[in-house]
Amino acid sequence: MSRYWSPFVKDLVPYVPGEQPKLSQLTKLNTNENPYGPSPKVLEVIKAEATDALRLYPDPNSDVLRHAIADYHDVSIDQVFVGNGSDEVLAHIFHGLFQHNKPLLFPDITYSFYPVYCGLYQIPFEAIPLDESFQIRIEEYRGINGGIIFPNPNAPTGCFLGLPEIERLLTVNNETVVVIDEAYVDFGGESAISLVDRYPNLLVTQTLSKSRSLAGLRVGFAVGHPELIEALVRIKNSFNSYPLDRLAQLGAAASFADQGYFEQTCHAVITERNAMVTRLAALDFQVLPSAANFVFCRHRNRDASELAASLREDGIIVRHFSMPRIDQYLRITVGRPEDSEVLFTSLQRIL
Ligand code: PMP
Repeated sequence: MSRYWSPFVKDLVPYVPGEQPKLSQLTKLNTNENPYGPSPKVLEVIKAEATDALRLYPDPNSDVLRHAIADYHDVSIDQVFVGNGSDEVLAHIFHGLFQHNKPLLFPDITYSFYPVYCGLYQIPFEAIPLDESFQIRIEEYRGINGGIIFPNPNAPTGCFLGLPEIERLLTVNNETVVVIDEAYVDFGGESAISLVDRYPNLLVTQTLSKSRSLAGLRVGFAVGHPELIEALVRIKNSFNSYPLDRLAQLGAAASFADQGYFEQTCHAVITERNAMVTRLAALDFQVLPSAANFVFCRHRNRDASELAASLREDGIIVRHFSMPRIDQYLRITVGRPEDSEVLFTSLQRIL
């Protein structure tokens, strides 16, 4: 059949998502979900909307949600674009905002969806190695480029770059779009949204999948100059797709109205992350400093894939990437204290 396909489709290397097991007795620490549920207020709003109203199409502009995001981040509604998860927002960005005649720059190592989108949208790219301590070297992103993208904190390392560094980049790179993917920012980073009014080529993406515990609802957004947002709207409207369904629009908006729950659950994750770092170090793991809801670590003597397999035998799933340079690392999502007990009991047995 493949003789009917466009040749580039044959060469596509699709993204491989983390395993989503059905078994509820597993301790699932592999895809950076939030161990706490969404805000009860979100659930109330979703239940109230799950009525006869579902026979109607949703608002194509997601105005209620965009207002909630704009108010929360102190920007105007025409600076906000929403999508079905930030992966969809990123897909639109890759589709239309990066130039095709110069390489897109992103780090090597980073979110593994970026090269996948480059393959799909036929964008040339240059992956710039992290330094020896896995930090992004901002001075290397100054060359000719068709755009720049990186997560901050980076994934899967968890390392965070301060806003002065991002501003340094924006002052030298004002010809192409710079995208800061802030999927994990609420666990210890600092958002570059405060810079969008000064840098019209800056686009910041965030998700409700992590800090707002709504991975299953699929909501993400971008904040930037109205012209960039308008471009994204044109791209989106060139597919006949609604941005978000009715439940997602209202549920997501409600999460911005429950600041107390948001702060409490982020704080719990951060506290548990810090405890995990100390306990892992005591077990002879080398742990990268993390500003995210996961830790990236390697054991000084034990093979990472074997460790992942042994944890799996004890019903614990962590993420192991068989990629050069990081194949001896494990990425472990921060869970509840009781998940950590299960994890460390198992590690003590294995090591
Ligand atoms: N960016 C980064 C860096 C991520 O790790 C993820 C989650 N895998 C995403 C974006 C996408 O998240 P979502 O589509 O759930 O918003």
